[in-house]
Amino acid sequence: MNIREIAAKCSKCGYCTTCPTYRIEGWETVSPRGKIQLALKYVDGEIDVDQKIVKDIFKCSVCGLCQEVCPVELPLIDFWEELRRTLVQKGLAPLSVHRKLREITFRNYNPYSGDQERRGDWADFEIKPAKTLYFAGCTASFRLQNLAKSTASVLEKLGIDFTIAGKNEYCCGSPFLRTGQKDIVERLFEKNYAYWQKMGIERIITSCPGCYRTISLDYPKIAEEKGYEFDIEVVHTVSILDKMGEFEKIDLKATYHDPCHLGRHMGMYEEPRNVIKRLGINFVEMERNREQALCCGAGGGLRSQFPEISFEIGRQRVLEAMETGAEYLITCCPFCEYHLSKSAEKLGNRIKVVDLVEIAEKLISP
Ligand code: SF4
Ligand code: SF4
Repeated sequence: MNIREIAAKCSKCGYCTTCPTYRIEGWETVSPRGKIQLALKYVDGEIDVDQKIVKDIFKCSVCGLCQEVCPVELPLIDFWEELRRTLVQKGLAPLSVHRKLREITFRNYNPYSGDQERRGDWADFEIKPAKTLYFAGCTASFRLQNLAKSTASVLEKLGIDFTIAGKNEYCCGSPFLRTGQKDIVERLFEKNYAYWQKMGIERIITSCPGCYRTISLDYPKIAEEKGYEFDIEVVHTVSILDKMGEFEKIDLKATYHDPCHLGRHMGMYEEPRNVIKRLGINFVEMERNREQALCCGAGGGLRSQFPEISFEIGRQRVLEAMETGAEYLITCCPFCEYHLSKSAEKLGNRIKVVDLVEIAEKLISP
């Protein structure tokens, strides 16, 4: 990825001003177009980058909407990540909160300060070795344990022979890859990879689209750089649900939020909708859906470093969901669920935010 080469192709058309953070901040330096021009001037040595510019560059959830709408088809997701890596290498980043999360994760192997020894405490079943690993991820392990339990229950009901890694499951590193901190990701990769090799893991099932993207797309690249084999199949739980036979039906009205890491990053739009329809749910789309969906506002380090912007995007997304008249806002991502639930709380909890697995689990006969 060559920052200069990509930035020089930008036609400055401004289609990418649909960017959710730009819509809130309103400054050209926060728009994708503006940031690309600053990056170009920076790599050409025409300007020095100060902390104000660095902060503006990080006012981005790496949602990928700009990439989706760009008529020149610039690979902007990779561009933002590479730009952030460059700023970290030059000592201009990470920003304060991202640095703190990095220190916590170096110590605890998760960004929530959770006790790593108790990471698998959510599991209320006997853990046996298996070739398929359910990788719950940090958010389901430390914040949304019910989601981890529901997922394990679904896998059990489907007769899938699976195991979990408990205290040997380490953050996949997604938040650090998105914020340019590759060194810690390499360390987390080494920890996870060594355990998977030792246990003979052949397939990984994830609840979290961030883990799904990172382990299926980024880990093979890191493995290649290190000269390791990476021969593990990675699937998101929604693919497991999508391949199932019939479910019992449920009578409720719901809409669906496309997680950026599942949708724009991985191209999975129809699988969750197929499952929702097969559950008999009265399904209504939000105005912005699939490739054009508004992000929840939490990703790319935005929630931790810029909570006001992040919660304003979350508020807008929940309001959009409420406009459909749905009782439920379904998603397929623990981090989206966590952030949208908090955003819905601020709006008086007039819509319930749930993960698709939590609904499906109740409708699968044992
Ligand atoms: S990835 Fe999303 S938040 Fe970041 S610049 Fe593009 S549209 Fe804006
Ligand atoms: S949409 Fe693409 S070409 Fe147009 S200003 Fe944005 S990045 Fe540049």
